[in-house]
Amino acid sequence: YANGGKGANQAVGLSRLGAQTKLIGKVADDENGKKLLGNLRYNNVDVSDVLTTGKQTGLAAIIIDGEGRNRIVVYEGANAEINPSEAADCIDDNIDLLLVQFETREDVVVECINRAVKQGITTVVDCGPAKPFTLEKMQGITIITPNESETKALTGIFPENEETILKASKILRERSKAKFTVLKLGERGCSVWDGNNLHLMPAYKSKVVDTTAAGDCFTAAMALEFVRSGDIYAACDMGNRAGSIAVSRMGADASMPTADEIKNFKF
Ligand code: ATP
Repeated sequence: YANGGKGANQAVGLSRLGAQTKLIGKVADDENGKKLLGNLRYNNVDVSDVLTTGKQTGLAAIIIDGEGRNRIVVYEGANAEINPSEAADCIDDNIDLLLVQFETREDVVVECINRAVKQGITTVVDCGPAKPFTLEKMQGITIITPNESETKALTGIFPENEETILKASKILRERSKAKFTVLKLGERGCSVWDGNNLHLMPAYKSKVVDTTAAGDCFTAAMALEFVRSGDIYAACDMGNRAGSIAVSRMGADASMPTADEIKNFKF
């Protein structure tokens, strides 16, 4: 049994890096809900906007075969009951960043993003897990960031070389109107497309122990650095640093580094 959920992992990642972080979501008043909230509070994530419903808390069963391949069966539970306007109403004017994932229902993601864009808030869309999504409904987002399989699910193109990375990045930018397209490319690092230039940023070398939540860690660190500096390349460098530390440690949110750990890490 482990704490998780992409939103929760990314919230913990941001909090560990020093951001004041609030999570929007739903759990039930049951054992799993209490454990998740306890872990978020322990990591200084504000859970005052995590609402409680009667339904069971969401759960994912992860089955790993002898070769390390996994299958994940997701029960969305309470979190599927959030309605778009109640989620969007949690977005205050004074926040600097809204970060969303596709584990939340499409209509909720769209409403939250469009509300935040209207309020002039920086928005980052993490496209996990891999599934089709009507990106055209979100207009004016700042950064869209899928991993390799999410890129394939959204564009039909697997980003295996510079040509396919560029092709997929262009499609993602056209469909979402995002200012920056950042592809997470595993041990190859990441790529940035700003509409004019494509930059490939290699990963930092790392002794891989467990890649779980490397993407969540990358997204959290990249988004925070972008809000702080406004520099997409500094942001992706921070994402690569955080991701390479995350893969060198066991666990999901437990593997997320603090700002000091990133600063003092010998890359
Ligand atoms: P996961 O689903 O396992 O959370 P992901 O598929 O969403 O991960 P990846 O692209 O695998 O995301 O990894 C995110 C980032 O972590 C990469 O962009 C890179 O910066 C870093 N990273 C991943 N794998 C490695 C590796 N083997 N060595 C160094 N850095 C890595």
